[in-house]
Amino acid sequence: MIKFEHAIDIVKQNIVLLGTEEVDIKESLNRVLRQDVLSDLNMPPFDKSAMDGYACRMSDITNELEVIQTIPAGFTPTKAIGENQCAKIMTGAKIPEGADCVIIVEDVEEISDNKIRYKKDKTSSNICYLGEDVVTGQKLVEAGTRITSKQIGAMALSGCVKPVVSVKPKIGIIATGDEIVEPHLIPRDSQIRNSNASQLYAQSLQFGCGPIYYGIVEDTKEAITNAVEKAKEENDVVLLTGGVSMGDFDLVPGILKETGFELFFQKVAVQPGKPTVFGRANDTFVFGLPGNPVSSFIIFEVIVKELLTGMLGLKNYAAIVKAALSKDVRRKKNERLAWLPAKFLPNGLVEKIEYHGSAHITSLTEADGLIFVPAGLYELKKGMKIDVRQLQ
Ligand code: AMP
Ligand code: MG
Repeated sequence: MIKFEHAIDIVKQNIVLLGTEEVDIKESLNRVLRQDVLSDLNMPPFDKSAMDGYACRMSDITNELEVIQTIPAGFTPTKAIGENQCAKIMTGAKIPEGADCVIIVEDVEEISDNKIRYKKDKTSSNICYLGEDVVTGQKLVEAGTRITSKQIGAMALSGCVKPVVSVKPKIGIIATGDEIVEPHLIPRDSQIRNSNASQLYAQSLQFGCGPIYYGIVEDTKEAITNAVEKAKEENDVVLLTGGVSMGDFDLVPGILKETGFELFFQKVAVQPGKPTVFGRANDTFVFGLPGNPVSSFIIFEVIVKELLTGMLGLKNYAAIVKAALSKDVRRKKNERLAWLPAKFLPNGLVEKIEYHGSAHITSLTEADGLIFVPAGLYELKKGMKIDVRQLQ
């Protein structure tokens, strides 16, 4: 059995950065950017009015002003503003030469057809100045960022309509177990539904990968071997669930070796997820994940994602938030590092969710994050500030 941190190091040492492709900006959501996005213009690109009003000279605002033109947005002003002159101007329109402020329409009275007066004696400039938000060449989004709706606007603004992103890691998912049936079926006596495959599929998709599901295979050498050989040919990463512990029908580690994988670890001091297997054959990786659904979920989050993060060139994948514990967290054994589902409370504290063990899949449905108890510790005390690794 190796330490959890050691397992993470081994995974990181094996990272192979995937290639890139160009995608349309509309298809780029959730992909990992592999180029810096630089602005090809200033924003705003010209001094523009922040308000509907009249553009004039600040020194003239207490005088009666002559309206010499109207400037809609998108129109280039044709006349310069002289002493005691103004131009009616719309939000977003270019400020005419000579003007240094915009008095807002709400505070202006029309005296005659082309004469106005400002009802106050002070104004702010109400001008958004050229380049005040972004200057040409400025880095707007950094390579290694996951593209979310927050970055799309900046990409569009700078004309980045074909961003260069990582190709999606192909992930083959195989469920093993004679007792496992697909979720649309009603399990007979001694059967259980396959929750792992849907869960891993969703985790992979959400992480910007391309999952392929290979179905449930029975616990025989032949069935598992066939599935592994096929998935190995077709994917960057193969995930198996079940069949990795010490039972008579836990055949996965042996089969992985026979199908050409070098295995780097088969037991990790982590709870849940001790019988986690990691191996490699050339640039194809394999994880044998424990069958219990919480183990499978958590090991994907804390170990598999380390590999995927590196493959994708992603800067970081899990937001860590510090929060104080609402209650003591105790455990009976302390040899392994433990990951536990937790949720944020309205008062800002974090609470461990009731959790019976690695088969207790419903403990995840309300989880906001995972907390951990380091190896060697029996408890975390109420009030302690701890790291919460946020779940998507
Ligand atoms: P195993 O790792 O094969 O010994 O399985 C450990 C436990 O996880 C057993 O109780 C299995 O029935 C259960 N299990 C295995 N595969 C799945 C799956 N795909 N979905 C839900 N539970 C599973
Ligand atoms: Mg099994």
